[in-house]
Amino acid sequence: MQLYNSLTRKKETFTTVEPNRVKMYTCGPTVYHYAHIGNLRTYIMEDVLDKYLRYLGYDVLRVMNITDVGHLTSDGDTGDDKMLKGAKREHKTVMEIAEFYTDAFFADCEKLHIKRPEVVEPATDCIADFIHVIEKLIETGYAYEAGGNIYFDTSKLEQYYVFHDFKEEDLAVGVREGVEEDGNKHNKADFVLWFTKSKFDDQELKWDSPWGIGYPGWHIECSCISMKYCGETLDLHCGGIDNVFPHHTNEIAQSEAYLGHSWCKHWFHVLHLNTNAGKMSKSSGEFLTVSLLERKGYAPMAYRFFCLQSHYRKSLVFSYENLDNAAQAYQKLVGRIHALLAVQDAVDEAQKETYLAKFREAMDNDLNTAQAVTVLYDVLKADITAATKLACIAEMDRVLDLGLIEAAKCLAEAADESPDIPAEVLELVEARKVARQAKDFAQADVIRAQIQEMGWEIRETRQGTVIEKKS
Ligand code: AMP
Ligand code: ZN
Repeated sequence: MQLYNSLTRKKETFTTVEPNRVKMYTCGPTVYHYAHIGNLRTYIMEDVLDKYLRYLGYDVLRVMNITDVGHLTSDGDTGDDKMLKGAKREHKTVMEIAEFYTDAFFADCEKLHIKRPEVVEPATDCIADFIHVIEKLIETGYAYEAGGNIYFDTSKLEQYYVFHDFKEEDLAVGVREGVEEDGNKHNKADFVLWFTKSKFDDQELKWDSPWGIGYPGWHIECSCISMKYCGETLDLHCGGIDNVFPHHTNEIAQSEAYLGHSWCKHWFHVLHLNTNAGKMSKSSGEFLTVSLLERKGYAPMAYRFFCLQSHYRKSLVFSYENLDNAAQAYQKLVGRIHALLAVQDAVDEAQKETYLAKFREAMDNDLNTAQAVTVLYDVLKADITAATKLACIAEMDRVLDLGLIEAAKCLAEAADESPDIPAEVLELVEARKVARQAKDFAQADVIRAQIQEMGWEIRETRQGTVIEKKS
């Protein structure tokens, strides 16, 4: 498989340290609020990569942290602690906030068919590991104490800015807009490993350490959790593009200084989902969550489909118009697959292999999901048996995980119960069900009106929804 590596800025043949085994690390969410659909774009694309590697026969160990301490609102070790902000906002403790939003994150993941990694580790469960690594960094001269905090000394490295896309003068934390300079740092790029002189007097989560009571910096969490479960080498490290600097740059600095050798070969970064107004945000503009989309009548699979229709290395603009197009295309796709279910014929193995080879070609080309979706349409258009089409789609959907066959079977069940009702009406009935489940009754009423326009009436009874031809 050819996969773009942000470290070398090239598409490379993906290789692993151990044959057929992938050790993969994913930066997890900061659990101070719901994930927005931008965050979830990153997790959807990482999920497809994970599933495609498994499809290719790799045994994948995927590790994810949960950031429940240490992530400040600015990446330059300044600003407020995000978790503390969340706790204050909701008049709860930090741990209550962390538990609630961790659960909410995995509930969203489930709706979007994002598989739970084999290891999910909250940072607050690994404090002793962080302290151990920081102690060694101090011993070996890579870290120093100043003003009560422990800093990583970036001047000790031959090369700190390893992601070549960036120029040092653009990135040095001290010169970035809105970031106040920390006078304790020996070099502008140095970063905090352990805070003891916290500027947050009310910091709830603090632990004893050889340097006094305090808490870890965000970057050290990912280095330690990755090394704890994946050992001294990592095959693949993932995150959103904003993680490249300083987070991943700092992870590499710490991990390689600690280990004394190179650490992770392949870096996979997903470009952002933006709105027409620019950056997606949890604090300004409409806070776009999966639940909000559901309340508006969009099935989570429509959003997954929207993401897969574009390449992960292109930024993607979210608009309701774009999502409407994806939702309609998804429903049509399910409708076409539904029509195949009624046909009784046999699979042509050779034809199946031809189309699956095209699918693999798309995915092998830097995880080109947009091209893979095109292959899916080619299968539906092809002059091959219905059984061959279904077999191809089932196999591709092990990776794309759009729930296509299941959704088509749901339509088929509804059609079995009411054979005279057109598929378009049944699809609208399904969409109305989603809106009602999400308690968006206004959207459910809009859909009911569409159904009526098509000459059908729906009634809710104790036995369920009854669909009748309008008299
Ligand atoms: P956070 O919860 O802020 O730690 O972010 C979780 C993940 O979402 C990280 O991998 C970020 O890089 C990623 N991310 C943040 N904003 C966006 C966005 N607008 N589009 C895609 N990914 C994002
Ligand atoms: Zn991380």
